[in-house]
This record gives sequence, C-alpha cells and structure tokens, in this order.
Amino acid sequence: MALKIWLDTGLVDEKDAKISVFDHGLLYGDGVFEGIRVYGGKVFELEAHIRRLFESARAIRLSMPMTRDVLIDAVEATVKANKVEDGYIRLVVTRGVGTLGLNPFTCKKGGLFIIADKIQLYPEELYDKGMKVISATTVRNHPLALPPQVKSLNYLNNILAKIEALDNDVPEAVMYNHEGYVAEATGDNVFIVKNNVVCVPPVEAGSLEGITRAVVIRLARKEGLEIVEKNLTRYDLYVCDEFFLTGTAAEVIGVVQIDGRTIGDGTVGPVTRLLREKFYGYARGKEQ
Ligand code: PMP
Repeated sequence: MALKIWLDTGLVDEKDAKISVFDHGLLYGDGVFEGIRVYGGKVFELEAHIRRLFESARAIRLSMPMTRDVLIDAVEATVKANKVEDGYIRLVVTRGVGTLGLNPFTCKKGGLFIIADKIQLYPEELYDKGMKVISATTVRNHPLALPPQVKSLNYLNNILAKIEALDNDVPEAVMYNHEGYVAEATGDNVFIVKNNVVCVPPVEAGSLEGITRAVVIRLARKEGLEIVEKNLTRYDLYVCDEFFLTGTAAEVIGVVQIDGRTIGDGTVGPVTRLLREKFYGYARGKEQ
C-alpha cells in the first residue's frame, strides 16, 4: 500500500513526496533526523525524540521550521494516516533549498518530511543467538568536529564503520573514539556486564545520547542492577561477561563475539535477557 508522507505542511501521496535537488540536506547532508518506534499505535518516547531533534538542530544552527507542538501533531497525524500500529517513523529536517555553495543561510526555510512505515528488524534468531561484531578502524567523530550527540544527516563516519562490519560478514561494528575508548556501535549504544555490574560508556566518549539507552538504564536500576557509566576499552569488551546493544530499531540485542573473541560462554547472558524482556514489556505498555 502506498504511504502518506508528511511533507513540510501536510500529508501527500508517496509518489508526490519529492524534494529539491537544491536542498542542502541532499547536497551536504545538512540536516537532522530522528528514528522513532510506534508500539500498539502509540509513539514511543516522542517527547524525548523531539527534544533531541531540537537540540541537534540548535547545535548546527538550523532554525526549525515549526514549533514542537506542531511537529508532534504532524508525527501523530502521519502515524494515523498510515494506520501504523507497530512500526517506525523517520522524521527528517533538512536545511532547505538554497544555492550551490556551502552557505546554509541561503536556505530560507528548513524542509520537513515524516515517513511512518514498518521496520525491518534483525531476524528473531539473532536475538536468541546473539550477534557477532568487530572493532571498526574508523574512529568516531571527534567532539570538536561534528559532535557525536548531533543526530545529523551526515552518517558517513558510521557508514564507513558499517562497511567494515559487512566486509567481515557481521552486522555491526564497535566504534572507538580518538582516545581509544569505546564510543558506540554504528547505529546503537553499547553496554557490557562484568561481575554483575552493568557498564555503559558515558555519552562524552562519543556516542549519540540514545533514547533506548536511557530507558534501559532506568529499567536496569528498577531491577536493582548496579549501573556504572565509565570509559571502556577494547580489552573491557574482550573480557566482559555479557555485551549488548540498544537502539530504537534494534531494541536490546545481545553480542556473543567481538573480533573473534567469544563473550562469556558464547550465549546471550541472563542480564541481557532480563533487560530485553523488561524493555519489551515496557515499550508495549505491559509494564510501567
Ligand atoms: N547511536 C547511533 C549512531 C544511532 O544512530 C542510534 C539510533 N539508531 C543510536 C545510537 C541509538 O539511539 P536511540 O536509542 O535513540 O535510537
């Protein structure tokens, strides 16, 4: 079924959802975006996503073309128009149409589009068995370059790391920062468990401040688990008991091998299973 796409100020048919070749979002990757889940017809953590989007825009001096409330209404209208019960929203704000040349101030107004569709998940068996990952040689953006907290349309840094993963026949790669500490995976945040302590790299290590990460930290605390935010090295990943990734699309997924080293006993561990189950219940409103 053809989708209804929100384009700037209203819904249009998918075939009419077109943007200009002069949009700096396309010419320069100049823009910001969010990926958001819908569970049971309800948009998950919408406020948090909208906050992060506005903060990303502020960081790159992009004036948002609408208020938060108008944007929230647009997201909800798009979900409704496409009758999405369980799915995924891609919300994109571009710098807008300008002249050739970098100057973003030639773009008079930001562009907006919202897609509400199904999501292609990792196969279910990967959640049961856990995934293999590698360490990428591509270093995460330096915080004095494009800050990694900005969810910008320029994902080339992460795409290069993803290519390294795919070249090695694994679905994901861990990215390290310029100091050699773990930053994140190409589209997910990293957690490990060591001696029953859940450890997560601080956002300052060079990751996006993941919304799933924040929910999982909250749920872990509620379960009485000890959570420590600290810098992690590649060695820490090699010798941990459990390893998992979090993200809007991936939710919570266990990692059982990195760079050929088996994690724990090579199966998805009990803390990962517990947090995956709790997240699943929370997201689908079965648990508060
Ligand atoms: N890091 C990166 C680079 C991402 O693109 C994402 C989102 N796909 C995440 C982490 C996870 O963030 P969230 O839980 O908000 O989806």
